[in-house]
Amino acid sequence: MTEHDISISQPSALSSAGPAGAADVIIVGAGPAGSTTAFYLAQAGLDVLVLEKSRFPREKVCGDGLTPRAVKALVGMGISVGEQDGWVRNKGLRVIGAGKRMELAWPELASYPGYGLVRGRTDLDQTLARRAEKAGARLQEGVTVTGPVLDERTGKIIGVKARPDGEGERVYHSRVIVAADGNSSRLSVAMGLRKRDDRPLGVAVRTYYKTPRHDDDYLESWLDLWDGDRLLPGYGWIFGMGDGTSNVGLGLLNTSAAFGHTDYHALLRRWLNGMPAEWGFTEENRTQPIRGAALPMGFNRTPCYYNGLLLVGDAGGMVNPFNGEGIAYAMESGEILARTIVQALARARRAEVERVLAGYPQALNDAYGGYYALGRVFVKLIGRPGLMRFATRHSMSRPALMRFALKLLANLTDPRGDAADRLVNGLTKLAPNPE
Ligand SMILES: Cc1cc2nc3c(=O)[nH]c(=O)nc-3n(C[C@H](O)[C@H](O)[C@H](O)COP(=O)(O)OP(=O)(O)OC[C@H]3O[C@@H](n4cnc5c(N)ncnc54)[C@H](O)[C@@H]3O)c2cc1C
Repeated sequence: MTEHDISISQPSALSSAGPAGAADVIIVGAGPAGSTTAFYLAQAGLDVLVLEKSRFPREKVCGDGLTPRAVKALVGMGISVGEQDGWVRNKGLRVIGAGKRMELAWPELASYPGYGLVRGRTDLDQTLARRAEKAGARLQEGVTVTGPVLDERTGKIIGVKARPDGEGERVYHSRVIVAADGNSSRLSVAMGLRKRDDRPLGVAVRTYYKTPRHDDDYLESWLDLWDGDRLLPGYGWIFGMGDGTSNVGLGLLNTSAAFGHTDYHALLRRWLNGMPAEWGFTEENRTQPIRGAALPMGFNRTPCYYNGLLLVGDAGGMVNPFNGEGIAYAMESGEILARTIVQALARARRAEVERVLAGYPQALNDAYGGYYALGRVFVKLIGRPGLMRFATRHSMSRPALMRFALKLLANLTDPRGDAADRLVNGLTKLAPNPE
């Protein structure tokens, strides 16, 4: 998208989408962030229009792993997550590193369920989108948003230009516009919001193999990713899909010297070459191409409210810097955003609406600011190979330390829980948290 994609007023060459193209809220993108935002807005009775460039069911490059945080978000939307509905349950995380393996059950907490799930994104994203529709959101699939429409006087976004498949470009207007268009968030970029260089970014690749390990009841994480004799900051994963295949992939952080010049496909193959032959991670058993994408972490695009545009999920860089999990944060930020918009649009005067919307970045900061700040320190530290090696060796022989690490890395604590919970919660308050 270029500067030319911004419309200042409605150009005559574009047709207005008419009443069907007007709404209280327009959401660009129907991934987990967009669909969750739409669900909560529609539930509150607002007229929500979601514009999604693809058509469901569609693929999204992902590890397909859901921690108890994501399970909680799904349950909160009234989604049935029983095994009879195609969800594959897991009991915890198996960690393999420094020549050892350890099975860590998800913690028992009041705030989160004690199990995780695995579900392919083709199903998950369609389920969320249909749930939003059922709540009353209008979803238009096959509509690519091409740029913002700006108010001539204030420069604020008041609509979007979009191209429905096989048709000409149209203009859609609404009172509030949400960018839920994922990691590259072209709408944010067109509004002048780029990724921040001082915030963490990951890159991950994944594929699927036919394997007898497909019904594993633990998510599996491999800490030893080697580039020659250098231990890389990141991890490999094997998540059983329960359908005869496993999702296998790896991710690296940009704090590694190897980040910009790693051949991820070769790294994946090297890592898998060391696996037992009976697991079947061979070219003949690969069922999908190896595909990758970026993981924008720790608020790596800010501010999340800018010139009328509200950012949610990956568009706002909300992936957890500790473990690369993004679905739960996309859904949670969607709920936070929806609650903000509902309160804002209930106000009478524009200035009041503005004041409430301007509180969204603070609400996000209250939810994640301290934790992400700590995560940013963490990714810097593990970017040092010696430190990473020491931490892996030291912790893999100490189960209590690893149980604590699981709570910290997966962000799973109770507000007034046990000593480990209180330590994690305390640390997130201590981390320096600049804007
Ligand atoms: C390899 C890999 C593995 C991962 N593994 C996991 C994992 O196991 N667990 C986990 O929790 N997270 C994982 N993540 C992160 C997770 O995928 C993201 O954090 C999550 O998808 C964010 O959701 P979102 O709704 O913000 O964005 P997205 O899921 O990217 O959705 C954005 C939507 O916007 C649409 N869109 C984009 N542009 C336009 C446009 N111009 N017009 C209309 N529509 C548009 C897209 O088609 C898409 O549907 C992984 C990421 C990668 C790359």
